[in-house]
Amino acid sequence: MKITNVASYALEQKLEKKDQFAFSQAWCDKRTVFICKIETDEGITGWGEAFGPSLIHKTIVDKFYRDYLIGKNPFDSQVIWETLHNKFRDNGQKGVTVQALSAVDIALWDIKGKAADVPVYQLMGGRFRDRLKAYATGMYRKYTPNEIEETAAEAASYVERGFRAVKVKTGFGFDYDYAVIKAVREAIGDDINMMIDANHGYNASTAIKIGRAVEKFDITWYEEPVPPEDLEGYKEVKASLNIPIAGGEAEFTRWGLNDFIRYRCADYVQADCTITGGLSEFMRVGLLCSIANIQCMPHIWGSSIALATGINAAFSVPDFPPGLEPADVYLEYDQTENIFREELASPKPIVKDGWLYPSEKPGLGIEVNEDLIKHYAVE
Ligand SMILES: [Mg+2]
Repeated sequence: MKITNVASYALEQKLEKKDQFAFSQAWCDKRTVFICKIETDEGITGWGEAFGPSLIHKTIVDKFYRDYLIGKNPFDSQVIWETLHNKFRDNGQKGVTVQALSAVDIALWDIKGKAADVPVYQLMGGRFRDRLKAYATGMYRKYTPNEIEETAAEAASYVERGFRAVKVKTGFGFDYDYAVIKAVREAIGDDINMMIDANHGYNASTAIKIGRAVEKFDITWYEEPVPPEDLEGYKEVKASLNIPIAGGEAEFTRWGLNDFIRYRCADYVQADCTITGGLSEFMRVGLLCSIANIQCMPHIWGSSIALATGINAAFSVPDFPPGLEPADVYLEYDQTENIFREELASPKPIVKDGWLYPSEKPGLGIEVNEDLIKHYAVE
């Protein structure tokens, strides 16, 4: 099998004021997605996605990766990964070039799965579990005067729809964080998992102060309390709190995550396939996690392609520690209004009573809607 064409698309949708939202680092006034389409001489097409600045990714794939890829066999995905990563090694080993490579790698796995007529998780070595505990990501800040009440009501609405876990955005200072965490816990009751995510909004001492104040609200994990570079800060926070710590979504490749994992900065390592280097690199990060006896769980953000990728990754990542009753592996399922997650590909994931079940369809398990791409593509 040979690659015959590589196309890439930067998609963009502006958001109306009422749909704009903030995490601790920025307000978002548009949705952007980068996707990569790889075609082969056997009529099999693969799709991949990268998180980040889509127009930069498009330049990297179109101008620097495409020519190399034409004529290659998708089953040489490891050779392709190392070659394309090495292309920019002298210019930096992290960042947008690795994100763009992630999209290429994911598309190659989609092709390999379709060619073998098996789901990607099967090709990655099989699935370790029958279901994933989906958690509703949402609870962002919005332009509304009643933020705390509305955020708590939003969390309760996910529970009403069957979710058994929710993730709340924090990182906005002690007063807001404490108030929103308290309000959400009261709204969802005691039986629902609640994660909090500061999106690296704090230094260690502030993260610890807030963490200690909210421990009583039974937090499943405290995500990205400090910036990704601050490994000593992570260790301080982890040692100081009775809340499990999660992080790793903003780190790249096995080399980038190696210190984060072996220095035990977190209890859950959240590598993101669309950032860290695709499914190939996610597997290697999972291997590093197994050496450290830490559970790897994919972070997921983006369109239905990123979601399908993360689902395959989450089914195939081993339990660490293994046992008769291994801990649940959680699946991030963003619930904010997003046309690219809802309509870019189908079918939707199989979710019942807050649990997500595997698809038996080959590759990533989705069909992409190319009309939607045409409509939202920007140059
Ligand atoms: Mg996060």
